Amino acid sequence: MNDPGFVVWFTGLSGSGKTTLGVVLEKELLKRNLRVQRLDGDIVRKSLTKDLGFSEEDRKKNIERITFVTRLLAKHGVATLVSFISPYISVRDNARKEVNEESAKFVEVFVKASVEECARRDVKGLYEKAFAGEIKNFTGVSHPYEEPPKSELVCDTENETVEESVLIILEYLEKEKIIPKS
Ligand code: ADP
Repeated sequence: MNDPGFVVWFTGLSGSGKTTLGVVLEKELLKRNLRVQRLDGDIVRKSLTKDLGFSEEDRKKNIERITFVTRLLAKHGVATLVSFISPYISVRDNARKEVNEESAKFVEVFVKASVEECARRDVKGLYEKAFAGEIKNFTGVSHPYEEPPKSELVCDTENETVEESVLIILEYLEKEKIIPKS
């Protein structure tokens, strides 16, 4: 039987930094010769879940499918880095439960930045449209985001650099013996 992998689950508003942190963390874990797979909302929504929209029901289905894939990867020893807004506590907690059932660790990282800051960054030009009412059900503007009450880590991307946030995650993974000390 394989040793299980682990999951780093980034949750936060659009533009908070989930993809950015996932990309840099992936590089660091690859340097340590781990098998890594990133699952990213922007990519997965164009493939595996391209039939889904942004209603509550569809968002839940989106994360259910991602959870299914995440569980399989974690079961087979892969360090799985998941970057989705994943706005509902219940759905994230279910992902944790499923991953834990494979004896794999689940590390929830709340990527924290205010709506104002995300809108200022407006990486994808979506906030402008959301505030103009051109996009419905936009998280943080016209759709809820349930902040994690007890995530393992909070990366405050308004006050930390990308490198600082990634270092905090790596140190946590080492401290918890999820990855060996480098
Ligand atoms: P998300 O995946 O959450 O939608 P992105 O990673 O696509 O967000 O965009 C986040 C933006 O915020 C990027 O332009 C990134 O350079 C910027 N940013 C500034 N500081 C940080 C930080 N400490 N961590 C992550 N991203 C940051």
